[in-house]
Amino acid sequence: MGTTATAHRVVLGAGGSSRRALFESTHHCCLGPERALPYSADRGKKSVSRQALDELKQQIPLLDYLQAHDWQPARPLSRGRWMGLCPLHPDHKPSFLVDPGKSLFYCYGCGRGGDVIRFAELYHQVKFPQALTLLHQWRGLAPLLHQVTGFYRMQLHRHGEAVAYLDQRGVRSPEVIEHMRIGYAPGGCLRGWLTQLGYPLPTLRQAGLVTGVGYDAYVRRIVFPLEGNLYGRSLSDSAPPHRFLPGTKGGLYSWEQVRRYAELILVEGLFDYAALWQAGFHNVTCSLGNHLNVRQFRQLCDGSRTVYLTFDADGNDSGQQAARCLSRSLREQGITAHLVSLPEGHDPNSFFVSGGNAQEFHGLLERACL
Ligand SMILES: [Zn+2]
Repeated sequence: MGTTATAHRVVLGAGGSSRRALFESTHHCCLGPERALPYSADRGKKSVSRQALDELKQQIPLLDYLQAHDWQPARPLSRGRWMGLCPLHPDHKPSFLVDPGKSLFYCYGCGRGGDVIRFAELYHQVKFPQALTLLHQWRGLAPLLHQVTGFYRMQLHRHGEAVAYLDQRGVRSPEVIEHMRIGYAPGGCLRGWLTQLGYPLPTLRQAGLVTGVGYDAYVRRIVFPLEGNLYGRSLSDSAPPHRFLPGTKGGLYSWEQVRRYAELILVEGLFDYAALWQAGFHNVTCSLGNHLNVRQFRQLCDGSRTVYLTFDADGNDSGQQAARCLSRSLREQGITAHLVSLPEGHDPNSFFVSGGNAQEFHGLLERACL
């Protein structure tokens, strides 16, 4: 996939005229005077053919891309436009304008605007060529993952072992299963189904859904869709417990839905998330492991908030060590971080599974230390 962006790239010489033409095509009256180039690519050195960019933008409507990254329109405006919270800066009242007809955005808070490529640059904090690569990957992968998620969700209630496993992990409410779009990969049937839908085998291999020898990659796993990936938890003790598709684990889980909270609970795993969400703590997010990637860390720091770090109290202390280290880094960025102490040997999931309730968990939050 990475080669696609390279293939589209042509050298346009040193003149600014091509850059200017590019800018005009993305200019919008809301964007203010033409004082800056729309993209952060090196000026005039390397650029991309206008036609390839137009094609990419046509294939990825801005609104689809925003919504796939959890953006929610809050208020309709005239001519089909929408306002919502800005995903690019800490925002408390909707200041982010989206014009789906023109596929352009503008934020009245942080003053930034542009098209889907500009959005990808700002949102993922990457330069122009990387933004193109991400968009090419997303264009190929998003519809496929959408199909896979739907298929696995359909399988969940057809397989007693999956429902029994969720039950054993305390995940019982239909609301949380719906909210997290939890599914089940029995193994041995995804490839056939996707092939029938017309997906060629090399595409499935490249996405990591099918192994080199042609079997389903996820077998007997509870599956949680992530932004651009799938997490699969094995039911069987003989397989590695955690599995992701190749590529990044993405940002913090369900970030757009929780970033507005002044107080956030951060957990390591999706079963911890499920247990807390089910117990009524909807201000919870998950880092999928106790090591945060750069994007996850920046997300936590994108506004003033208090974070309750609720990592595993496992025997080898790795969860607590990671939490102490993270709390120091957060404090350096001006974020209030509290360490929540679970009873020895517990994670938030097992705390609830072994009989803990919401009130007791509240008590742990109140006793959390700086
Ligand atoms: Zn903004």
